[in-house]
Amino acid sequence: MNRKQKKMLVRIILTAILVAALGLLPVQGLLRLALYLFTYLLIGYDILRKAGRGIWNHQVFDENFLMSVATAGVFALAIFSRSGDYTEAIAVMLFYQVGELFQSYAVGRSRKNISELMDIRPDYANLQQNGTLVQVDPDEVAVGSVIVVQPGEKVPLDGEVIEGDSTLNTSALTGESLPREIRTGDPVISGCINLTGVLKIRTTKEFGESTVSKILDLVENASSRKSKSEDFISKFARIYTPAVCYAALALAILPPLVRLLLLGLTPAWNIWVYRALTFLVISCPCALVISIPLSFFAGIGGASKEGVLIKGSNYLETLSKVRSVVFDKTGTLTRGVFEVNAVHHNQMSPEQLLEYAALAESASSHPISKSLQRAYGREIDRSRVTDIQEISGYGVTAKVDGAEVAAGNDKLMRRLNIEPIPCHQPGTIVHMAVGGVYAGHIVISDTVKEHSKAAIQSLKRAGIKQTVILTGDAAHAAEAVAAELGVDQVYSELLPADKVTRLEALLEHTGSNEKLAFVGDGINDAPMLSRADIGIAMGAMGSDAAIEAADVVLMDDDPLKIAKAIRISRKCLRIVYQNIGFALTIKFVCLALGAAGFANMWLAIFADVGVTVLAVLNAMRALFVHRL
Ligand code: ADP
Ligand code: MG
Repeated sequence: MNRKQKKMLVRIILTAILVAALGLLPVQGLLRLALYLFTYLLIGYDILRKAGRGIWNHQVFDENFLMSVATAGVFALAIFSRSGDYTEAIAVMLFYQVGELFQSYAVGRSRKNISELMDIRPDYANLQQNGTLVQVDPDEVAVGSVIVVQPGEKVPLDGEVIEGDSTLNTSALTGESLPREIRTGDPVISGCINLTGVLKIRTTKEFGESTVSKILDLVENASSRKSKSEDFISKFARIYTPAVCYAALALAILPPLVRLLLLGLTPAWNIWVYRALTFLVISCPCALVISIPLSFFAGIGGASKEGVLIKGSNYLETLSKVRSVVFDKTGTLTRGVFEVNAVHHNQMSPEQLLEYAALAESASSHPISKSLQRAYGREIDRSRVTDIQEISGYGVTAKVDGAEVAAGNDKLMRRLNIEPIPCHQPGTIVHMAVGGVYAGHIVISDTVKEHSKAAIQSLKRAGIKQTVILTGDAAHAAEAVAAELGVDQVYSELLPADKVTRLEALLEHTGSNEKLAFVGDGINDAPMLSRADIGIAMGAMGSDAAIEAADVVLMDDDPLKIAKAIRISRKCLRIVYQNIGFALTIKFVCLALGAAGFANMWLAIFADVGVTVLAVLNAMRALFVHRL
């Protein structure tokens, strides 16, 4: 509890004691009025003030107004009718405040849950400067600096290990509790906790561009993107609140007038004003206004604890309606780490061919390039390479030692008017041309991710109707993967532009209330991440562009999390609908009872505070998604 909440709690307890004490004291008349009025103001002054401020700012109709009018009205009625029964007005305010306190506590709890994730924010970096270590703000570390991370410290910036072995705890980022081994040469992302050894890291990104900053930005901004349900509720409240106020006014005035003028009876103002005030308390929309955003907030918080970052409530809502999932292959369903299986060469030696390939590919971040550079195994002398051009979906061309080198698929060769020699070995073929002459090819192969098959199965269990692979890779490689994983449809040998066209065709064929998700790593597929109803990116190996373009980011690249994210979203939406249905039903029943005179203030308090507390408790369930 924070200080404000504690203060509120003290006010609530004091009020309760005062009400009990006043009930026992036999004071009467003005003194009694003064003591009760004091108690009423003690518990309600802030609500009255907010209502006053609302009127002043011409934004009259909100729950503060409803509560102020209702309680002040009941109080005035007690004075006017000389009943001396002021307890009711105080009780309504008291319970309303209990409800408010409970809400703010619940919101605080789910915020705390999210800020546990926020705990990834590093406080300092140990920067190596002239042989000594200085502690500096992570913001001040330039790209390419060397930092040291001791066991127990957070990795403050993204970089590459240049010395040391260790294990990292990545759970705050990925939800994965198993520590990850790292060695010299491995990339590290900020936000992990270094567990065992001292690591020397050369930073590859500034703090603002590092993983931690990205995640923090994402989560902090998530609640500003509103879902349709939230929009609906705030629009609803804007119409509903004034409507019930006027209805209450009518209830207070019309029946007495009818009685007086048409029926010739006593007007019975007291009874009808009291009913109108009860009506106001019942109709307070806080249960919805609070619990719906809280459900989304909790859902996003719960998902981030599992390593699934959802950029806004609207995406959570869309995710729950996904019926088709389209995958990129390389890096998404497969590991994106290719092994070199064979090198078929013409004149030059296999080593030389691989060297040309690695040099030409030295600037690309495509998984194929990275794998060729790794297979080459030696330090790459970038000064030998010029004029690098990467052609998406084809490959690269560059000048190595002055010679024109091309590395890519058969389409690239044809584009350069070079006839590639086909290869019958299974795998992905990287054809090479040097000096405009065909020089051979490198056969590489990728392996599917450990959880890919389970991921497809669990999507099917979750009711996903179609799974599709879109890839630029050759047909036989793509079909082998699809068959192994049980994916329904494959489209292969697509250029990046074809992938978008294909995706649009698929989008057209999904039903009106069904959504399509695209899952990719952002290499050659960022346009699809934004074009699909919802884009899901691999966060750990994915490019920054992917993380930007995506609506959902899987921190540990585990495809199994896709079905999990869908289940989380469905649970959250189920809770939202439950709350809407539950709150509206109770309210309308109580309103009808109130108008007919069967409800008193105590029922009204239940209809408002009781329903709010139950709806908030239900909303909090959205936080618990670990077992889904
Ligand atoms: P995917 O859909 O599998 O992610 P891409 O669209 O990234 O595939 O690439 C399609 C094909 O283009 C690859 O299978 C490969 O043959 C070729 N290619 C793309 N980029 C490169 C590269 N940097 N080096 C060699 N080949 C490449
Ligand atoms: Mg790709």
